[in-house]
Amino acid sequence: MAPPGESLLQILEDIGDCRRCRLHEGRNKLVFGVGNEKSPLVFVGEGPGADEDAQGIPFVGRAGQLLTQMIEGTARKEGINLSREDVYICNVVKCRPPGNRTPEPDEMEICGQFLYRQLRAIQPKAICVLGGTAARAITGRKEGVTKLRGKWFEWEKFPVMVTYHPSFLLRPYNQDAKREAWEDLKKVLHFVYD
Ligand code: URA
Repeated sequence: MAPPGESLLQILEDIGDCRRCRLHEGRNKLVFGVGNEKSPLVFVGEGPGADEDAQGIPFVGRAGQLLTQMIEGTARKEGINLSREDVYICNVVKCRPPGNRTPEPDEMEICGQFLYRQLRAIQPKAICVLGGTAARAITGRKEGVTKLRGKWFEWEKFPVMVTYHPSFLLRPYNQDAKREAWEDLKKVLHFVYD
């Protein structure tokens, strides 16, 4: 159990040089999270890719650049003054799965405990979950992301919005999904910042 009122730094120190699951074997850098510790909005992805593993920062590769554009572009269009540094961004698993495979249930179970502690430490006004894997970890629902996106769920007492993962949106044939993700983001930004 997480001690009450712990800080992100305490959680990071508790993770330490983590060897709790097999994902530590291939990692270069553990990717804990980035951004504003007091953010009212947290984005949760699946797990680090190659760029994130090299830099130790979540969402810095191509998908990350799209996520940044989505956050900042949508906010600007909606008249909300917001940049990437104002929010908090992290993943369900903190170490890169080999070959970018989907994290295994036991890996998500073990590392998810740290994600949950991060969320409790931040106490956001809302959580925006990116993609089906993170959606399963946070909502516990079995449906795919197409069914879950655009709807509100709750994790503990925190409102949760599910949307598509930016990697999925990078595929050229997913233009409709891109529009839907923009709609989802609009909803969550107005909910948090109006
Ligand atoms: N994909 C994720 O889910 N997380 C990252 O940090 C980068 C890519």
